[in-house]
Amino acid sequence: MADMTITGPAPDLASLLKARPFLSLDETDGLCFEGVSLKSIAMQYGTPVWVYGAGEMRRRYRALNAALAAQDLPAHIHYAVKANGHLAILDLFRRLGAGADVVSLGEFLRARRAGIAPDDVVYSGVGKSEAELKAALAAGIGQINVESAEELAMLSGIASGLGVQATVALRMNPDVDAGTHAKITTGLAENKFGIAAADIPALYAHAASLPGLRPVGLALHIGSQILSPTPYATAYAKGADMVRHLRAQGQNVEALDLGGGIGIGYGAEPGLDLAAYAATIRRTVGGLGLRLMVEPGRYLTGPAGLLLASVILQKHTQKRFVVLDAAMTELMRPALYEAWHGILPLDAADFSVPVSPADVVGPVCESADSFAENRALPDLPPGRLVALLDAGAYGAEMSSTYNARPRAASVLADAGTARLITPRQSIEDLWADEILPG
Ligand SMILES: *Cc1c(COP(=O)(O)O)cnc(C)c1O
Repeated sequence: MADMTITGPAPDLASLLKARPFLSLDETDGLCFEGVSLKSIAMQYGTPVWVYGAGEMRRRYRALNAALAAQDLPAHIHYAVKANGHLAILDLFRRLGAGADVVSLGEFLRARRAGIAPDDVVYSGVGKSEAELKAALAAGIGQINVESAEELAMLSGIASGLGVQATVALRMNPDVDAGTHAKITTGLAENKFGIAAADIPALYAHAASLPGLRPVGLALHIGSQILSPTPYATAYAKGADMVRHLRAQGQNVEALDLGGGIGIGYGAEPGLDLAAYAATIRRTVGGLGLRLMVEPGRYLTGPAGLLLASVILQKHTQKRFVVLDAAMTELMRPALYEAWHGILPLDAADFSVPVSPADVVGPVCESADSFAENRALPDLPPGRLVALLDAGAYGAEMSSTYNARPRAASVLADAGTARLITPRQSIEDLWADEILPG
């Protein structure tokens, strides 16, 4: 499998464990996550089950805030709801002071339901509908990142009709290659996102002249899972040039939304260096007197979640297949992006026995329903439990019920206690809202 998310050779089980301080191995309890035995969670709630760690989410939020503060950056974190919009997780980040970055009315209302103030929400996306914009404006949304001239005109009409001023930023497409997977890059001229730099000055002036709009600045978001500060440096330098250009034209530019995309280590490698990232921000846009926003999703929740699964059976053809009770219906990233996820057994003994290559797959009737190819794993007989690592972002959020598979349960571990935050869907629930005509 072409592997776009780890660099270098695949790490062994011990290295995966060592790179994740929130995981530990207990002789009798096996693999523990933030001090909670994962086997006990699987016993109590069944599998597949999502397990999230509140402590690790808080630690990551604070580490990013500290890195930004160390560079004296007036930056506010807007958590990207699409990474994982569970109310318990939104509530956790709200308590830490985060706002939200949303890409639909549904996500805006989710953030509101979790108590995030409407004016602390930024709304991005290439295709916001009239109904969505109207509802968000009426509810007092903080900022709308506009991605086209067409949207700007629509927004002006809606805001005027409602008698409100929409605070807008123009999303600039900086034409920068984020060096990430083609399906998660967004800042290239050929991508559907944002407004070409050449069109920004005229459109910004136009926005300032339209009724119902208050342009406050620019937004940049170049992609996801970015591991080097270099593409950020290029994009932010282009953003800084544009800010200076707009100001020279007499425009008011007070805010810059720096987007998300902070990459994490899916293997044993480190994620994006936060100190280097913050230094890049300082160097490129720090001297412009701008109010800054960052929109991390994956960085905050990715490593702080895992998917527990049971082995249904091991099948031997020319290869060894480990068939799990979890599938692409839970964790779609390997099928969608050829993403690499670490897989650890839960039994302590399994960390010191011989390993051999195995394909780890789900039971869904699609060849794409595969988590790993030729992964070095111990013998995993039926009933054995495994953890799919770094599944806290773009995991449950992308779940489906394909093959009539009910949605998995989810559990939040906090200070040594595990609490159910989503019950497992019942099979009958799958058709509960379907209507038989006649
Ligand atoms: C998806 C998205 C984010 C979050 O991206 P991550 O890679 O999860 O940090 C931030 N901003 C916008 C506009 C997005 O679309």
